[in-house]
Amino acid sequence: MIRLKREDVERIIAHSRENLPEEACGLLGGTIDPETGVKTVEEVYLLENIDHTNEHFTISPEDQFKTLKDIRAKGLQPLGNWHSHPETPSRQSEEDKRLSYDSTASYLILSLQYRDAPVLKSFNISENQTVSTEEELVILD
Ligand SMILES: [Zn+2]
Repeated sequence: MIRLKREDVERIIAHSRENLPEEACGLLGGTIDPETGVKTVEEVYLLENIDHTNEHFTISPEDQFKTLKDIRAKGLQPLGNWHSHPETPSRQSEEDKRLSYDSTASYLILSLQYRDAPVLKSFNISENQTVSTEEELVILD
């Protein structure tokens, strides 16, 4: 399970809309409850998609490095990443699976396929990067 504040959901939606027609992306930092494994997102990073296309995304190594440094400086852990799908549903594409290296991370996808009805879901990837499973996403008001 991953928990995310509603204001952060709104920031992800706003950043994704601003970047249309391109995919938008970013990273997530937060805490993991050692007992339950429940993740809580404390920091959402809105980053540049250096591919500048509507089909895939890349976060620059510089942005990844800076963000990881910031996450650690705040005493948080990296939890995963998020990106938008401007034209397709909220599910991991074959390429998304191929680029998901960490079976412990959360991969959030915001679909803007229906512009006025954004859909945000979280996914986990299997060790061999072939099976994508939806992870429970709880929005905190
Ligand atoms: Zn994708």
